[in-house]
Amino acid sequence: MPKITEEVYYIPGQDEFMPDAHTYVLGKPSSQDLSLVDPGLTGKGSYKIQSVREAGFELSDIKRIIMTHTHLDHIGCLSEILREIPWAELWVHRLEADPLEQGDERAVYGMDMFREYCQEQIGLQPGAFKFQVNRKLDGGETLDLGKTDWEVIHIPGHSMGSIGLYHRPTKVLIPGDVVYADYAIGRFDLYGAEGPELKKSLMRLAELEVDILLPGHNQIVKKLPKGYILKTAEQWESYLG
Ligand SMILES: [Zn+2]
Ligand SMILES: [Zn+2]
Repeated sequence: MPKITEEVYYIPGQDEFMPDAHTYVLGKPSSQDLSLVDPGLTGKGSYKIQSVREAGFELSDIKRIIMTHTHLDHIGCLSEILREIPWAELWVHRLEADPLEQGDERAVYGMDMFREYCQEQIGLQPGAFKFQVNRKLDGGETLDLGKTDWEVIHIPGHSMGSIGLYHRPTKVLIPGDVVYADYAIGRFDLYGAEGPELKKSLMRLAELEVDILLPGHNQIVKKLPKGYILKTAEQWESYLG
């Protein structure tokens, strides 16, 4: 489990027949107050828990799981992880927390065809993604995570309740699936997605000084060129409406 900074560790996703989200562990290890960001795809829980153990962390130090958003490739193994750390709280943006509590799985699957595929071919059960959320995030709050402050930024467009987590002192941004390396952005054709909202969200992120970009998939970027997010937004502008 590579260390990115003193307060961020990285568990790379394992893509197979579907992409698996990267998982990030936030917090200074000495704080004994760690947060797991985005568990990942269905079936990927045990190796991620294994990675945390092998890095020498105590599972009992993981106090909460924070979702950048609730797509299947990010939330699929949440129940596997919760079996190992049942005390962990679940923190999700309000717009995706309410559906999770009601068992509304449209935001998890993104489209009916994909839900049908997952239920018929992979055997996922209807109602598998009904969860109680311990803290509903709005965006604008600053979270104290293991002696480090993370700003929550609501960045809808890829999904309605997408959030970014920003650590200002080290200029680290965790944008979920909103922006990736190689000038790529998240798709905006799924349930709850909207191109114009995604454009606004990218412009919002472009205002931040970011040195380290830790997206949900593909490469992480440790020396992000200045103006990278703005340039990405401009390249996609005409597609986003
Ligand atoms: Zn997504
Ligand atoms: Zn994803």
